[in-house]
Amino acid sequence: MADRSFLDWPFFDDAHRRLADELEAWCTAHLSGAHGNDVDEECRTLVRKLGEGGWLRYCVPAAYGGVHESLDVRSLALIRDTLARHFGLADFAFAMQGLGSGTITLFGSEAQKDAYLPAVAGGEKIAAFALTEPASGSDVASMETSAEEADGGYVVNGAKTYISNGGIADYYVLFARTGEAPGARGISAFIVDRDTEGLDESERIKVIAPHPLATLRFDRMKLPAAALLGERGKGFAQAMATLDVFRTTVGAAALGFARRALDEATARALTRKLGQGMLADNPITQSKLAEMVLDVDTSALLIYRAAWLRDVMGKRNSREAALAKLHATDSAQSVIDKAVQLFGGLGVTHGVPVESLYREIRALRIYEGASEVQKVVIARAHLAEFAA
Ligand SMILES: Cc1cc2nc3c(=O)[nH]c(=O)nc-3n(C[C@H](O)[C@H](O)[C@H](O)COP(=O)(O)OP(=O)(O)OC[C@H]3O[C@@H](n4cnc5c(N)ncnc54)[C@H](O)[C@@H]3O)c2cc1C
Repeated sequence: MADRSFLDWPFFDDAHRRLADELEAWCTAHLSGAHGNDVDEECRTLVRKLGEGGWLRYCVPAAYGGVHESLDVRSLALIRDTLARHFGLADFAFAMQGLGSGTITLFGSEAQKDAYLPAVAGGEKIAAFALTEPASGSDVASMETSAEEADGGYVVNGAKTYISNGGIADYYVLFARTGEAPGARGISAFIVDRDTEGLDESERIKVIAPHPLATLRFDRMKLPAAALLGERGKGFAQAMATLDVFRTTVGAAALGFARRALDEATARALTRKLGQGMLADNPITQSKLAEMVLDVDTSALLIYRAAWLRDVMGKRNSREAALAKLHATDSAQSVIDKAVQLFGGLGVTHGVPVESLYREIRALRIYEGASEVQKVVIARAHLAEFAA
């Protein structure tokens, strides 16, 4: 039984505690956890189910069908923590509705918010966030996809890759170079509907934990002026502001995976015979379990502190979000690895939860800022604070 004592921490309100209880009951009733063969169809179904359950309302502000006036990071993190513990693909479906609509929530016009956010909250539109390119992943500022002004709108050429929900999304929030200045200051954001002429989303990418992922190609793709999202030339800052909200929640997903691994490993250790006793009676096993508990608790503290700082203190939390993402994703990897070890041969057998967790966790240390990038953010903040 997953440890739920963290819900008593002062970072939460009673509304968060109710949310955690209600979502727990919903997950038990609605998420089978079984992967079908068609991951696209499974994701579409999950988005619809999450919409019907009302959970996607946490991805948008109240004025557009959401729950909170503005995005509440503690709720987003609690939801990801819980969904990931039950079923990784459900967490993915939820997370992408948030990430793929976040830039519209933060910077969209009223017309754009009206057109997209209620449909995202209802699970009627599937969202995606297209930033990474074949030649620029971590180094976002050097992106090459261009959006040139023409005929009162824009013409887009280039490619984006590793785009989650690529191939099934109803729209993409796309970042492209509009050329106001070199580097980070010459990028703008756009909303691209899936049926736009010149958009090719047919090249799919298969990864170790299956979910919809594609390379997008833009060949003279025409966009109307109204597709521009926020101010021209501010796309880099908008992308970073969106990632700032969701980075903490990547840590929360890792935490959910780690909690599940700890639960699975504990149950196994208590029931697997070793010599005259059980695996759990062995001091080496107990040392492993203690380290796993420590990793889970420290991750939870860092994640919910980062979320609370932003929600309640209204502070920019780049340093704390980076600490939370770095620690939670790295340590979840270690927790899951220990769980696999405790399962022995069964741990690497297809269909056993710890085996799929082992595959699920890996990408979280790479996307939305690799662990090394988080270290750069943390060290820069530390040095600046020290010098001040
Ligand atoms: C499953 C999955 C889903 C994804 N979904 C999306 C999505 O929806 N939208 C989107 O836009 N992108 C998405 N991505 C792309 C992801 O954001 C990039 O993979 C990531 O930013 C790293 O870029 P890269 O793969 O080009 O690696 P590179 O930028 O080439 O980096 C390779 C490695 O170099 C090291 N490194 C990088 N920068 C530094 C640094 N400053 N200092 C020290 N070392 C460094 C790190 O170890 C890093 O892993 C997804 C990726 C995966 C794997």
